[in-house]
Amino acid sequence: MTKFSDLELDPRVLQAVVESGYETPTPIQAQAIPPALRGQDVLGIAQTGTGKTAGFTLPMITLLGQGRARARMPRSLVLAPTRELAAQVAESFDKYAKYTKLTKALLIGGVSFGDQDKLIDRGVDVLIATPGRLLDHFERGKLLLTGVQIMVVDEADRMLDMGFIPDIERIFQMTPKTRQTLFFSATMAPEIERITNAFLNNPAKVEVARQATTNTSIEQKLFAFTPTRKDRSFTEKRAVLRALISAEGESLTNAIVFCNRKMDVDVVAKSLKSHGFHAAPIHGDLDQSVRTKTLDEFRDGSLRLLIASDVAARGLDIPAVSHVFNFDVPSHPEDYVHRIGRTGRAGRLGKAFTISVPSDEKYLGAIENLVKQPIPRGEVPAGAIEGASENSDRPRSSRTPSSSSSSRGAGRGPRGRDAAPRTESMPHDAIPVIEQIETEETSVVASPATPQPERAERTERSPSNRGERGSQERGGRDRRDDRRRGEGNRAGEERGEQPNSNRNERSEPRADQRSEPRSDQPRSEQRNYRSSYPGQYDRILGMGDHVPDFILRSFRLREVTPDDDEGETPTAA
Ligand code: AMP
Repeated sequence: MTKFSDLELDPRVLQAVVESGYETPTPIQAQAIPPALRGQDVLGIAQTGTGKTAGFTLPMITLLGQGRARARMPRSLVLAPTRELAAQVAESFDKYAKYTKLTKALLIGGVSFGDQDKLIDRGVDVLIATPGRLLDHFERGKLLLTGVQIMVVDEADRMLDMGFIPDIERIFQMTPKTRQTLFFSATMAPEIERITNAFLNNPAKVEVARQATTNTSIEQKLFAFTPTRKDRSFTEKRAVLRALISAEGESLTNAIVFCNRKMDVDVVAKSLKSHGFHAAPIHGDLDQSVRTKTLDEFRDGSLRLLIASDVAARGLDIPAVSHVFNFDVPSHPEDYVHRIGRTGRAGRLGKAFTISVPSDEKYLGAIENLVKQPIPRGEVPAGAIEGASENSDRPRSSRTPSSSSSSRGAGRGPRGRDAAPRTESMPHDAIPVIEQIETEETSVVASPATPQPERAERTERSPSNRGERGSQERGGRDRRDDRRRGEGNRAGEERGEQPNSNRNERSEPRADQRSEPRSDQPRSEQRNYRSSYPGQYDRILGMGDHVPDFILRSFRLREVTPDDDEGETPTAA
């Protein structure tokens, strides 16, 4: 077995690795480090959790050990799709480069340009950035990329999902052709392959197996049920989630709950909090300081439940998550793999529970095809929802005849440390009203004294609510940055989650909505459709991909109308 000492790393790097407690390199490290140290390009096909960050940082630090940075000309560049991921890479550099004199700067949104400019002015060896923020610095004339000797692209498949590929291509072209490129992606979509063919030079291809197909330390379960009424689906899924959490009791030390849309992330988090669970949301519309604080609390164990969107959670290094819950079945099957890969890491056992309703059927099929195995069916805890039935049309579901008629409370299993008695004592019908009042983000004030479940449910998906999200999107930010590039989080996350999100109570997007991007969408959003529906964009229309930038620039704010939210048609109650 390869040892770190076999890898010809700088002794100062080795020392830091030993202090990190790592004994042997992971497969991706053992395969990627030697060619990287020889100066060869590397194409790494690996996901988070495989140790790929050290796979590129350790050789970079070794290679950059000699030499000095010049003002505004970083010697290396790491591109990451989200702020959190970029910050995590920066932390790795701090850890592994602590015995060297290398300097680094982190360029991410949510941090003032001034402070970042100062660092760049002084000269940095390693620049870690999200693509949008990097281009902003470049366009302000504060940065030159002609000194980049090593360029890393991390999580390229997520960059593709978020519409960053044109930016990545641009950045590649701004760096010298002689640079060394280390490129990592969990999957090799055709667009990714095209980029690697264009910009990598005879790369060493290193690949580690997909987590979901090999990781047997994750116990997966599907909890399928049919809501009592279609319009109560969201409410009853929350009740099922609470019941599942409570049933896990103390064995649930911490969990990530994934929702398909950030609006739902907020509602689910607030709902759990209102039921006495210790939960907090993380998504791209939250302030960076809030996101950092939430993550810190989750890492140090003071926060038990992190409610997250895919983009916000992607790549986060949280070593010991006992449970993952899919509050929504992800509409992209690969997101299922990424989500459940947050648990069962580094040899620990983990549980990944997915809640589904009948309209999720086709997404489940796609997931099971991808992971090449059926997800074992679990029983929705008895009494989780009064009147709801387990999904009888799922052939593999195991039904409990007594489950729907049982009057036992949702928290029947061992109670979690923060499960509140309220879950059991409150009639379920009253819950949505109270939740809605607590989670209302519009200026509408409802009286908690007047339970109106129907109204509350409708309010959640009313056009005004959708308009509110539109205004969040528009709110006081650099529009160019957010609308065109998403800065690794915001618009990108919207894109990642909306077009295909599958809140079951929404009607499906029409075929024509799905197949053609709207002409008023930013270019990067249109590319997202391309990646989601491969094969439908092969025709070249008009100028094809070569749309001049000025055509796509928006000159005025576009009003968000109900029609703008595909797939979010309010359901008739
Ligand atoms: P990554 O895939 O880079 O996000 O890394 C996943 C986790 O594995 C991080 O917590 C790393 O600290 C940890 N890790 C990286 N390399 C090793 C190693 N050789 N041995 C044990 N843990 C590692």
